[in-house]
Amino acid sequence: MFEHKAEVLEADDCRIFRSARERVAAPLVIRLKRFVHVPRRFRRQVTNTFLFARDSYRCMYCGRHKAQLRGREFLTRDHVVPLSRGGENTWENVATACSQCNNRKASHLPEECGMHLSRKPSEPNYVELVWAVRRVTAVQAKYVAMFYGDEVLDALQRHAEDEQHGTAPEIEPVRHLALVS
Ligand SMILES: [Zn+2]
Repeated sequence: MFEHKAEVLEADDCRIFRSARERVAAPLVIRLKRFVHVPRRFRRQVTNTFLFARDSYRCMYCGRHKAQLRGREFLTRDHVVPLSRGGENTWENVATACSQCNNRKASHLPEECGMHLSRKPSEPNYVELVWAVRRVTAVQAKYVAMFYGDEVLDALQRHAEDEQHGTAPEIEPVRHLALVS
C-alpha cells in the first residue's frame, strides 16, 4: 500500500523487522514523499508546509538540507526584504532559511550581509511534499488524506493505534513496507 508513496527514513536497526518478539518500543517514523500540484487555495497565502517543500527543505542561503541541521537548528521562513523594511509576506519575498542564517540576516537585505539566495523565490505550482510522520496529528491527517489519499491515512492511523496497544503486527521486510522505527 505504501509502495511508491513512502520510503524508509531510518533503517539502522533491521533487527526488529525479523521477529515480533524482538520488537522494541521505538517511535514509528514513516516518510511520505510525493510530487504534488499545489492547489490554488494553498497558494493564496504563504504556509511553511509549501514554502519548505518549494525550497526542497533546504536553507536558501547556506544550502543545508533539513536533515543536515544540527541540534536546535530548524527551518524558518525568511522575508528577503524584511517586513520591518516594507517587505511583504508573498511567495516572491519569502525563502526557506535555517535558524542560523535567519538570525544572521536579521533585518538586513541579503546583500547587506554578504548572503545570497540560491534561487529567485516564486509562487509554487508543483512541489515535492515530504512528511516524516510519527503520530498523525489532526493537521497532518488533513494533508496526508489530501495529498496521499485516504488509504494511506487509514494505514498510518491503524498502525499507530496498533503500536500504541502493543499489537502492531509483525512487520514485513523493509523493502515491502516502508515502515521504520
Ligand atoms: Zn542556512
